[in-house]
Amino acid sequence: MDSRRNLGLDEAVHHAEAAFVAANPGSAAAHERAVSAMPGGNTRTVLHYSPFPLAFAKGLDSILTDVDGHVYTDFLGEYTAGLFGHSNAVILGAVKRALEDGFVMGGPTCIESAFAAAVCTRFPTMQQVRFCNSGTEANLLAFGAARAWTGRDTFIVLEGCYHGGVLSFGSNNPINAPYKVRKIRLNDIYGACAAIREVGNQLAAVMLEPMLGGGGGFTATPEFMAALRTETSAQGALLMVDEVMTSRLAPGGLHHALGVEVDLMTLGKYVGGGMSFGAVGGRHDIMERFDPRRADAWGHAGTFNNNVATMAGGLAALTEVLTDAVLADLNARGDRLREKLNQAAREAEVPLIATGRGSILTYHFSDRPAAAPHELPQVPVGLRVIAHLGLIERGFYSSRRGFLSLSLPLTDADVDAFVAATADMLTQNAVLIRSAVAEAA
Ligand code: PMP
Repeated sequence: MDSRRNLGLDEAVHHAEAAFVAANPGSAAAHERAVSAMPGGNTRTVLHYSPFPLAFAKGLDSILTDVDGHVYTDFLGEYTAGLFGHSNAVILGAVKRALEDGFVMGGPTCIESAFAAAVCTRFPTMQQVRFCNSGTEANLLAFGAARAWTGRDTFIVLEGCYHGGVLSFGSNNPINAPYKVRKIRLNDIYGACAAIREVGNQLAAVMLEPMLGGGGGFTATPEFMAALRTETSAQGALLMVDEVMTSRLAPGGLHHALGVEVDLMTLGKYVGGGMSFGAVGGRHDIMERFDPRRADAWGHAGTFNNNVATMAGGLAALTEVLTDAVLADLNARGDRLREKLNQAAREAEVPLIATGRGSILTYHFSDRPAAAPHELPQVPVGLRVIAHLGLIERGFYSSRRGFLSLSLPLTDADVDAFVAATADMLTQNAVLIRSAVAEAA
């Protein structure tokens, strides 16, 4: 390895981090205070980045203001949960009204049944639905339901997938829930069929995101989905989709657009209007096992499953804000952003590709197109540091891993400004990026 090249990147990282520290004394102090009570000053791993994360004081529409008074246009969109921006008046009004009528009441309300009906209408796969508080919890319920329904204990998931804090199979988190899991590659039909047949009558379910979201923005082909459907059915196993992120990509969810019927699906993120949310739903015959009137009912507890803030916020979001036309417009804007980023990279002759679909994107440093995570070169993390801090310096909030998602308040002018900032950042670091990627390739 050419140590001078790495030194160049190390120096650039050092320079970017030093500039960030100098510009953000308030966030530095907030981080210092947080470190004593929370490990690393953090209560959600993905929000940590070096040298320390920006601490926010306010969010309005698509604008974030940090504790030092810097203003950012938000292209992270709270990892897709912030689809409505930070202050949607319709949602805020509905939540306030509901809270004023009382919260933590310890019984069902009329809002939750209306919200459940709205969710089932939007996602026809959900013949019935159960709510919980996070995508992780929704997926744990789906895994548990599949195990109880089939009496089997092995799951097949995708390489590079993420299904939650304790269902993180990309990096094999040591605190994962103890499920027996086997991995297949996205869009490798032959490998998937072989694995499903091999696990055979031990297979409870195949679980996948129809597009790897946190895993880099790679979409399943309709042929891959169809093969999973055929093979799981042949083995008496379930096919489950995690649409925590991807349900915003098409009416009915992405699996619907890919033309596959599944047994269970999970939701999270934006569906609660920006409040904490998770849901599992699907086939009536499976979901009715949760019916507490049955002697053999599966228990499903959760103090805040029907909390009024989420029920009211979600109901307003789905029925009053996010029409099919609004959703289509948001995803079209995301497609334009992806094309423009790819074009800017080509023009700057910098090896960067933007992947994803609709309003969910990820940029990767790569000198070749990629259709799955394993096709990307393993570039040094320093590239991500200079890109991320470079965008922050230019007034755009995004994520260290290059993940982006659009929110409704973002305009085409915001998209153009983001592309211009990215192009500027790429041009400034072009030599460094080219040599780091060439070395990794
Ligand atoms: N599944 C997917 C696909 C996700 O992207 C996430 C969150 N990033 C989760 C599950 C977990 O959701 P939560 O963070 O609400 O637990």
